[in-house]
Amino acid sequence: MAKRVVRKMRRKGLASMAVQTVATTDSTVDLGPASALSCRECGHRVPLGPVFACEECFGPLEIAYDFSGLDAEELRRRIEAGPANIWRYAPLLPVPADVAGKPNLNPGWTNLVKADNLARELGVTGGLYVKDDSGNPTHSFKDRVVAQALEAARAFGFTTLSCSSTGNLAGAVGAAAARAGLRSCVFIPHDLEQGKIVMAAVYGGELVGIEGNYDDVNRFCSELIGDPAGEGWGFVNVNLRPYYAEGSKTLAYEICEQLGWRLPDQIVVPIASGSQLTKIDKGLRELIALGLVEDRPYKIFGAQAAGCSPVSTAFKAGHDVVRPQKPDTIAKSLAIGNPADGPYVLDIARRTGGAVEDVTDEEIVDAIKLLARTEGVFAETAGGVTVGVTRKLIENGVLDPAKTTVVLNTGDGLKTLDAVAGTGLTATIRPTLDSFREAGLA
Ligand SMILES: *Cc1c(COP(=O)(O)O)cnc(C)c1O
Ligand SMILES: [Zn+2]
Repeated sequence: MAKRVVRKMRRKGLASMAVQTVATTDSTVDLGPASALSCRECGHRVPLGPVFACEECFGPLEIAYDFSGLDAEELRRRIEAGPANIWRYAPLLPVPADVAGKPNLNPGWTNLVKADNLARELGVTGGLYVKDDSGNPTHSFKDRVVAQALEAARAFGFTTLSCSSTGNLAGAVGAAAARAGLRSCVFIPHDLEQGKIVMAAVYGGELVGIEGNYDDVNRFCSELIGDPAGEGWGFVNVNLRPYYAEGSKTLAYEICEQLGWRLPDQIVVPIASGSQLTKIDKGLRELIALGLVEDRPYKIFGAQAAGCSPVSTAFKAGHDVVRPQKPDTIAKSLAIGNPADGPYVLDIARRTGGAVEDVTDEEIVDAIKLLARTEGVFAETAGGVTVGVTRKLIENGVLDPAKTTVVLNTGDGLKTLDAVAGTGLTATIRPTLDSFREAGLA
């Protein structure tokens, strides 16, 4: 209990800043079914606005909806007749009803790969699927969340889109701003993978490297929000965070719809800040409440790299607070040492009967290669983390191989080529059949 209070006190500096700098709390903004912001700790409600912390208790705010009047059958028909992107779920998202017609990247509706070869390799008999979000416009799941934040930025009149990023978000924000005709200025740790830097810079926005790790970048952005220099800026994962976060629900919606409106039994999700995992749970619960899927139990498993495993460490120790770590792993997109949603992830893993596990960098590389060689899916390090953790959880008897299991791949292997730099030519030969035979390849 005392520890929860400490957690809140730590947030206090940030929170008072957020409350001070509310540009507008215009309750007439049109964000579809979103009706208010609600505190995840105390339930206090405020009108929709660019705020992220509760004025009463400094807890994080999230979107509350008015889904009354939605009929399950009609909603399902409407979704199925919708576009092949996240906007098919617009009636369940904090976006205006006409969102599909606005310039944005239209992410989502990525492949749910039935991974039979991988299943055989891992001994899974209940059906194994890889939700492959490398297929998004900027090749990571971040396009989903940025698309929501963009709509909120438009609604609140922000003219610059910004973020603190471990790499993928920077690219997603740069691309979304380019398409929408907004300025972007994003912040990353200066020592990210070259592929991530290029894939963020190419969209022409401003890209600033900060001498420090992600947690330093994030702290800097919180200061910028409270400063006149940051006026008119929508930080997708700070002052627009409640809207941003809802984008992850679309992963849950798509997985269930692609399974034929069925819940998976088990789902393995990577953890950076933990936001994605908590919103996948929220999305699944919404589908149950709306009557779009059968109400039955599911388990959510969280996956981290051993070199940045604050949540899995807390899970295994039975703690309900997450002690920050200094990240040191090749899975840089997940390298958040002080994950904002960590305690909520612990709650969800425990409530659903799941777990949180971590794998070493070596196991991550092995898992990237395993997925590539069994299913033809080239994952970034974050995908190596989820596949590696899935394998480990099966070996440890934690994940049930007889149950339907979905593993997330949230980014493209082209972004983290360094991780598999050791792979290359099988042989170099002269262009003759003799040479080919000599190399033992015939
Ligand atoms: C950002 C990111 C995640 C998860 O992020 P959360 O902060 O936990 O929501 C997962 N995979 C990749 C590749 C990412 O870039
Ligand atoms: Zn509160």
